[in-house]
Amino acid sequence: MTTHDPTEQTLAQLGAVDPEAVARQFSELRQRFDEQAARTSGAEAWRAFVVSWTGRKSGTLSHIGDNWLKPAPPALKRAIGQELNRLKDHIEAVLAEKSRGIEAAEQTAAAARSKLDLSLPGAARALGTRHLIRQTYEELQHIFLSIGFSVVEGPEIETPYYNFEALNIPEHHPARDNMDTFYVAGSRELRLLRTHTSPMQVRTMEKQPPPVRIIVPGKVYRRDNPDATHGYMFHQIEGLAVDTDITFCDFKGTVEHFVREFLGPQARTRLRPSYFPFTEPSAEVDASCHVCGGSGCRTCKFSGWIELFGAGMVDPAVYGFVGYDPGKLSGFAFGMGVDRLAMMKYGVSELPLLYQNDVRFLRQFP
Ligand SMILES: [Zn+2]
Repeated sequence: MTTHDPTEQTLAQLGAVDPEAVARQFSELRQRFDEQAARTSGAEAWRAFVVSWTGRKSGTLSHIGDNWLKPAPPALKRAIGQELNRLKDHIEAVLAEKSRGIEAAEQTAAAARSKLDLSLPGAARALGTRHLIRQTYEELQHIFLSIGFSVVEGPEIETPYYNFEALNIPEHHPARDNMDTFYVAGSRELRLLRTHTSPMQVRTMEKQPPPVRIIVPGKVYRRDNPDATHGYMFHQIEGLAVDTDITFCDFKGTVEHFVREFLGPQARTRLRPSYFPFTEPSAEVDASCHVCGGSGCRTCKFSGWIELFGAGMVDPAVYGFVGYDPGKLSGFAFGMGVDRLAMMKYGVSELPLLYQNDVRFLRQFP
């Protein structure tokens, strides 16, 4: 405001020494207020205007109290007080009405700025998918759960007893050589990272009487040199069935059922003699190549067959470690590499692709 504010002086200084002159001063102030109120527009300017009149410290109304009312002679105080109250009422009424209009205009302007269109469709959020390893696990588990197996899981840190001894692999047994083992430093007793899921065969039979039908999904660890098909860690599914009258035919039938479920009804199964310390006899399970159907191609290295996993009838020596009677019981066991089966079935050429979590790879298996 460039015009001089009369309330910075006393009424005596303004020459208002009688009630009529006082009324004139208030009348001029009221006019001044009305003019300014009419000129002011915009929310920010309006707030400044309101403060300039009603501000507690330096607003015009408080100046009137300090400079006009307080120093006035007693004879004039009553007239000044009445004029001041009338002016206050007037100012409050005008401010209240115009403030409402300004607020409404402000809200309209804000709504226009945000331009929110509630009829637009929402932004689609990309959903993750299950990893190929997880999908393969679920596929494998589904096959065995539907023929009466149940799932058990066990510790990844094991004792040499469960990982080796109780599976008929005594110390200095050559079978320990091809399972290069990670040992855990610092533990009081010797601990290792399990090299297969087979320790859960022993742990399960220790805990429950026969019959046993379990599969054991889990991670296993070996000190392999990492390459296109080997890593330090891989995923396994172990299987074990023990009962009073399980024959080699049951074993073969179960394996053939699995191969058909996993690779399709046309898939044929072949058992090749093999060796594992905890099965006798032992077999490598092959399936007819799912790519060429057995006529020979690059996937099966022109043999027509693909190696799937190792299996066999449980070696009676293992029953001795868990208190089962080898004269009455028999059963079979198998150990599948989940990574291997996933790579084979879905045509993944490099093992590291399964662990790099490159979305360009993962998106191929929704
Ligand atoms: Zn083939």
